[in-house]
Amino acid sequence: MKRVAVEKKILERNDESANRIRKILKDKGVFAINIMSSPGAGKTTVVERTIDSLKNKYRISYIDGDLDTDRDASRIRELGVDVVQINTSGACHLDADMVLKALEKVSLDCDLLIIENVGNLVCPATFDIGAHKNIVILSVPEGDDKVKKYPVMFNIADVVLLNKVDLLKFLNFDVGKVKKELKDVNPKAELIQISATKGYGMRMWYSFLERLILL
Ligand code: MG
Ligand code: ZN
Repeated sequence: MKRVAVEKKILERNDESANRIRKILKDKGVFAINIMSSPGAGKTTVVERTIDSLKNKYRISYIDGDLDTDRDASRIRELGVDVVQINTSGACHLDADMVLKALEKVSLDCDLLIIENVGNLVCPATFDIGAHKNIVILSVPEGDDKVKKYPVMFNIADVVLLNKVDLLKFLNFDVGKVKKELKDVNPKAELIQISATKGYGMRMWYSFLERLILL
């Protein structure tokens, strides 16, 4: 019982901070997305391609959550957008307080704020970080059984990007199964099939994202 109460308190405090983030973003007119996936699903590559193709139309800022390194942040910095790195020192998710601190440093003179969460399909789903939309990336090499194995994550997804579909021809992966399970877990989630490295489906993702930015 005690443990449950502590966890509840942590999440309540987190929600308060997430509400503060929402207020800051609203005042600045910034649209924010939270990108989540397991490690290696392609978050940073999707972000790179997305920034590259939208940066001439929109002002974009980026916050990267990683355990210890700034490898992803330096990849994105090369694209010329404002980048702030959060090192979680081992914590396997971003929480709202970490993002709140990062908001003091990152440029909020932007249209789109991309927050890349720590690679993990479990607890990032339970920590609201005040973003407007949750983007979950599932990649083909991870297998087609993940939606029902990690239902909390797929339940909070507004968009699921199925990445690395260029590998479908080599692997035993049933896209129909993912579609069906996603419909069970979260019928409102949009599923877009992409290959960030090959470019397949990326235009559909960009135009989907643009519609959200302009809302
Ligand atoms: Mg990354
Ligand atoms: Zn965690």
